[in-house]
Amino acid sequence: MVSYKELGLVNTRAMFAKAVKGGYAIPAFNFNNMEQLQAIIKACADTKSPVILQVSKGARNYANQTLLRYMAEGAVQYAKELGWKRPQIVLHLDHGDSYELCKSCVQTGFSSVMIDGSALPYDENVALTKKVVRYAHRFGVTVEAELGVLAGVEDEVAAEESHYTKPEEVVDFVTKTGCDSLAISIGTSHGAYKFKPEQCTRDPKTGKLVPPPLAFDVLKQIEKKLPGFPIVLHGSSSVPQEYVDIINTHGGKLPDAVGIPEEQLRKAAKSAVCKINIDSDSRLAMTAAIRKVFTDKPGEFDPRKYLGPARDEMVKLYTHKIVNVLGSDGKAK
Ligand SMILES: [Zn+2]
Repeated sequence: MVSYKELGLVNTRAMFAKAVKGGYAIPAFNFNNMEQLQAIIKACADTKSPVILQVSKGARNYANQTLLRYMAEGAVQYAKELGWKRPQIVLHLDHGDSYELCKSCVQTGFSSVMIDGSALPYDENVALTKKVVRYAHRFGVTVEAELGVLAGVEDEVAAEESHYTKPEEVVDFVTKTGCDSLAISIGTSHGAYKFKPEQCTRDPKTGKLVPPPLAFDVLKQIEKKLPGFPIVLHGSSSVPQEYVDIINTHGGKLPDAVGIPEEQLRKAAKSAVCKINIDSDSRLAMTAAIRKVFTDKPGEFDPRKYLGPARDEMVKLYTHKIVNVLGSDGKAK
């Protein structure tokens, strides 16, 4: 048994309480490799932003759970080296799909886990979440649960259509399970194709797709039912057009990729939403930077010469999200 406390990590409890009161949201960035992790820590150390490092099932399969755990431990030390005296870093399991997986993460140093029973019938979701909460809380590990189904694909999490969270269920669910935060569905979704073109309107001036707005009325009802309770938004990348354009003009093919407009996320961050998950945007930043090097310097074959610029681009992206969208800068001094 390795406790997250020994690794210098923190759970989400105090972090979320502060964020809900302060009207900002904590960034939850996924990582699978060293360059992403370096970029996340650099951006958070520079801006003194608390951060949630997320490991998905796909990341565990790709990079190995043990290695990722040691990377997170290294990240705490790296943050201190960068001059961040008291780094507030959470290591979080994204979309845990079984009690056994959550238990194994608790035992190997994760400070937070998500149990995603959202595809199960309501009562089974309650029972599974409750079981995970009971185990995790014994070790001070916080638990995120999910109600409602998001559309889209995030690693192996796939759903055909989205079902908004039912506000009338949230009080019963949170009371019965004892979860620490709740992921809800209000129209965000996983991946770089959050909406089909027929769901969008076209801006007559630019010809770009404009996605439908998030269901803020549902969020408001949930906030009313659960005052001060931490709410989580998954699938909240904005799919920046400049990255999509660079990718498409440098040999890539991402036609009609659409994300959630940043002004809507800014509005959500000011509400009870205190954790916003961003993964696709960092993938796009990385891909755009690498494609650019490959086109501009076809003779380049030193990975540092294309992963380096990709890392720099991700630092810019993460810093932008922290400062201009989530408002979490300066909250972990
Ligand atoms: Zn998700």
